[in-house]
Amino acid sequence: MNLVLLGPPGAGKGTQANLICEKYNLSHLSTGDLLRAEITNKSEVGVKAKKIIDEGKLVSNDIIINVIKSYFNHNKNSNGYLLDGFPRNTEQAKLLDNLMLELEDKISCVIQLDVEEKYLKDRVLYRGKQEGRSDDNEETLLKRLDTYFNETMPLIKYYDEAKLIKKVSGVGEIMHINQSINSIIDQL
Ligand code: ATP
Ligand code: MG
Repeated sequence: MNLVLLGPPGAGKGTQANLICEKYNLSHLSTGDLLRAEITNKSEVGVKAKKIIDEGKLVSNDIIINVIKSYFNHNKNSNGYLLDGFPRNTEQAKLLDNLMLELEDKISCVIQLDVEEKYLKDRVLYRGKQEGRSDDNEETLLKRLDTYFNETMPLIKYYDEAKLIKKVSGVGEIMHINQSINSIIDQL
């Protein structure tokens, strides 16, 4: 089983991804986390990525391809993958389609975590205080939201046409949202 989690910054993708991966024994692929690890290691990719992340833009597809390839090389023979933060634009979605062909596998479902914009600011600013992520500030958030609307939202249509989208409200208690997601997965 391979799942994609789609949603705006601060939707709770990472939180739900951890719960889903634990319950269904999936490998968590978070491109955001992988990029932040590169930044911490001060690698060449990390230095490039930090500048772009702090501008609220998408890191180039070339960088993402390398990050993803290296992840799959280190996580072979998995029971399945939970993709969190990837794909984020149409080109990446096509890349993923090809990757699935190579693995002789398919995307089981795309879970759209739906959160109205008015909740996102408080969540992201709160996380900024807790975790100190340099992109979790008001100015960068506005740019991240723009990027989400312009580049990532078209994927909802892309996957809807493939009959893969399941929409879940990401507002409310974490465990309640998680139950809604689990009941979708249990029907796959
Ligand atoms: P949240 O952490 O709340 O899910 P988010 O989706 O904005 O919010 P991450 O997924 O951690 O946060 O991504 C942080 C940043 O890393 C993005 O704003 C972007 O610059 C970069 N990034 C992450 N994934 C990708 C990707 N697939 N393609 C391009 N850039 C990416
Ligand atoms: Mg995240």
